[in-house]
Amino acid sequence: MDNYKILRASRIGHPCNRNLFYFVNGSEENTTEKSSRIFDIGKALEPVIISWLRSDGWHVKRNPIDGTNNSLSLGVEVNGGVISAHPDCVISHHELDGNILVDIKTMNDRAFRTLKRDGTKKSHPQYFAQVHLYAEALRRIQVSVSKLGIVAMNKNTSELFIDTFDFEQDTLDTLLTRAEKIFSFSDAPEQGEHFENWCCQYCGYAHLCELAKKDTAVGSEDVPTTDKQEVIDAVELLSESRDMEKAAKELSDEAKVVIDREIRQQGIKSVRVGNLVLVLNEIKSSRLDTTALKKAHPEIVQEFMKQSSSVRYDLKEVA
Ligand code: SF4
Repeated sequence: MDNYKILRASRIGHPCNRNLFYFVNGSEENTTEKSSRIFDIGKALEPVIISWLRSDGWHVKRNPIDGTNNSLSLGVEVNGGVISAHPDCVISHHELDGNILVDIKTMNDRAFRTLKRDGTKKSHPQYFAQVHLYAEALRRIQVSVSKLGIVAMNKNTSELFIDTFDFEQDTLDTLLTRAEKIFSFSDAPEQGEHFENWCCQYCGYAHLCELAKKDTAVGSEDVPTTDKQEVIDAVELLSESRDMEKAAKELSDEAKVVIDREIRQQGIKSVRVGNLVLVLNEIKSSRLDTTALKKAHPEIVQEFMKQSSSVRYDLKEVA
């Protein structure tokens, strides 16, 4: 096995062939302190999540071979190398048939909500690929599983969510073919058909790569990227806060529908729920109809118009 190139199952779904080439050929990878800490937190929380699963009635086998609680190291050999696989757990529940091979992930609120909404295949294709490789590694040592899945923990709320899905032979075949292709390259390849521009921003090999996307087109402007961690963190925080505002508005709208139907329309003005008191106050307000005023007296509007300036922080997702 030592003579083979090694690719990790957790990497095989990366959209850039060139990134994978650098990895399997042992190029020096730059990792940020932040990403190392995120990784450390995930590892530290894994036993906690397993204990929560057990308290929820799940039977959890961390090592389905020898029954110990030790993690398991396996490999899937293909032409030119081996894909290393470290399956987290196989879980089962007395109310469900069969067993599920799962990988445990901790994620921020935005990623968690996207996973719940779209499922692993669409929202986290790298995780989808990873567990397919784990299933193949287990199959090769005669351990079969009924389903695959991701156990996700929301780091903001400590909520757990298990997304399960069927094994797809086509997906596995595509991944194995891709791994063989990556192993076969003798020079750094083009990024490949699955490449997405965002990869370069988080790529640990950008310092070696002349294809790194430095600029991202927004409309007709070229926008420079930054590698300043403080700025990256701030922009991501702003993006998360926008998502949270949107989610909060959706929750609030949902709650108001029920309150309107069950309380306001029944003529009830206040209600107590535990230690919360809801009071419905009718607010009367007047506002200037500026559209009508502009139409009726444009010269007056013009005369009293005052220029002011402020900054709007627009965020736009780009490909
Ligand atoms: S910098 Fe971009 S193009 Fe280069 S290896 Fe990384 S992800 Fe691929």
